[in-house]
Amino acid sequence: MKNEIEQLKDVLLDSDAILIGAGSGMSAAAGMDWWYQASPVYKQHFGDFYARHPEATGIFKGFYARFTSENERWAYLVRMLDFIYHQPPVKNTYQVLKDLIQDRPYHILTTNQDAMFNRYFADEQISTIQGDWRFLQSSAPQIDDQLYDARPFVKRGMEYLAQQEDKLYLPDDLIPHSPTTGLPLTPWVRSPEFLEGRRFKQEHEKTRQFINRFGNQKLLFFELGVGRMTPMFIQEPFWQLTSQLPLAHYVNINPQDAMTHTQIASRSVLIDADVDQALRAVQKLKSQNPVSHQSYLKTPRVPKQEPEQQALGMLEQAPALLITAANGFSISEGFNWFASDAVFHDLLGDLVDQYGLHNMLEAVQYPYQSKVVQWRVWARIINRYSSHYHTSPLMENLRQIIKGRPYYIWTTNPEHHFNLAGLDHVVENEANWVYGSCQTPDHPHVDLRAAARLMVGLEQERELTEADLPRCTTCGEVLTPLMFAPKPQLDSQQVAGLNKLVRAHADQPLAVLELGVGDQNPLVKKPVESLLRQFSEWNYVVLNQKPGPVPFNLQPRTAVIQGDLKTNLAQLARLMARPSKAR
Ligand SMILES: [Zn+2]
Repeated sequence: MKNEIEQLKDVLLDSDAILIGAGSGMSAAAGMDWWYQASPVYKQHFGDFYARHPEATGIFKGFYARFTSENERWAYLVRMLDFIYHQPPVKNTYQVLKDLIQDRPYHILTTNQDAMFNRYFADEQISTIQGDWRFLQSSAPQIDDQLYDARPFVKRGMEYLAQQEDKLYLPDDLIPHSPTTGLPLTPWVRSPEFLEGRRFKQEHEKTRQFINRFGNQKLLFFELGVGRMTPMFIQEPFWQLTSQLPLAHYVNINPQDAMTHTQIASRSVLIDADVDQALRAVQKLKSQNPVSHQSYLKTPRVPKQEPEQQALGMLEQAPALLITAANGFSISEGFNWFASDAVFHDLLGDLVDQYGLHNMLEAVQYPYQSKVVQWRVWARIINRYSSHYHTSPLMENLRQIIKGRPYYIWTTNPEHHFNLAGLDHVVENEANWVYGSCQTPDHPHVDLRAAARLMVGLEQERELTEADLPRCTTCGEVLTPLMFAPKPQLDSQQVAGLNKLVRAHADQPLAVLELGVGDQNPLVKKPVESLLRQFSEWNYVVLNQKPGPVPFNLQPRTAVIQGDLKTNLAQLARLMARPSKAR
């Protein structure tokens, strides 16, 4: 153990912030042996109750005893709660812990319901996620989502019981009921009716904010006495976060089974020992030698993961993908709104000079005097970028990365290339120019690709007239490409599909794959960033020629791959295609 204690001391000294995760082993370490055992202290306080309920070995088991009436149950509860509020721990383990960590930012996440941490640390620094004996909730939380302070009830009950000989009977009028619904109240601790209301969410939010704040620094996940019974509350999230955050470390102190995940083994310190003894040992060592071991810190503990490997991990573990694509992706596909290059001049040649156009965007926005001229521009663009489209290697790579998983593509690009490449789960935020409509909303949309090709061909031979323009098959009105309509409509079915994908993966490590979306893109980038903030399991992979800054709180789960989009997407697709053992 000596070596591990030394390592723990160094990790503590070297960390920028500490997130404590504590379970029942912490209470046990502090000598609070009355929770699960008929210990002397328990018998001293609950002897009469234990005599009547010999199955209730310890106060926690007493909570689940087979009571003969609500009056008996509440007499016990009042005494149990009063005991929890006032009984001091046997050892000062909590104080030792406080001395060890208080010189840097820390937060405490605990499944313990005894509020013992709250005696030593400020409420803002504690997240109590399995309830708290200081509160009562309604027995019907679906109609009453308030928490009630238990202490006034307990105080009144204790005052009554102090006068009685039989201390296992509380009269009806002292049994707490909800002031709003009149229904019985019950302690706010994990149960099938456990209320996950405002306070519960706030408790989780405190931890989330702490991780967001320190996730990209040397954050230490410090687990104390967490059992294997409920690993989903502390242990597994700690393992996952340590794995995701390249600078993070993980410490597990547990007398039974201090274990870690193989993925983070090199960044774990495991101490098979009583929490109290281990904390005291490291405190002693720290006071003797407050400087970190030179040898330990000579090399950085964690080689920072390459963004490509990070991205690969995120993409591989994702059960679904949300792909966003904008101008940068179009450029890789050959279309650029802002280019004023040979392609632009070749395509619109005569019109460029006639109307003084500088780029494609100006060409579509210019207020031409007639529909015919307007359509000469549209037809050339549609014909060039969409009428003859063949699936590009970029699209093939994207398909390989999707690997048959559920996906949605959210794009501002007008060329309709995703759909033309057979990737048809697409929300086109600005519609597209491949389909046209008249002004009557329910008239069918018309595929314009053939018409555009025809017009470009005709233009070589003669001047176009109104008669050459594509028309609505229902009313005969000249069509407008959807994206140039006064109010481009989103495809409601596609939007519903995207929402469904988001909802179905709200708690899973969905990967957002951003392909060439500009730094300030308000239509796609901002909403996706806000989804990422909302869904803390999601990861974010950014491919961009010149990536902008990543919002601070998303950085721990963001991988940015800078450079040529085509090259980088191809590389990711290659890596994804390899069997995982080869890496
Ligand atoms: Zn029509």
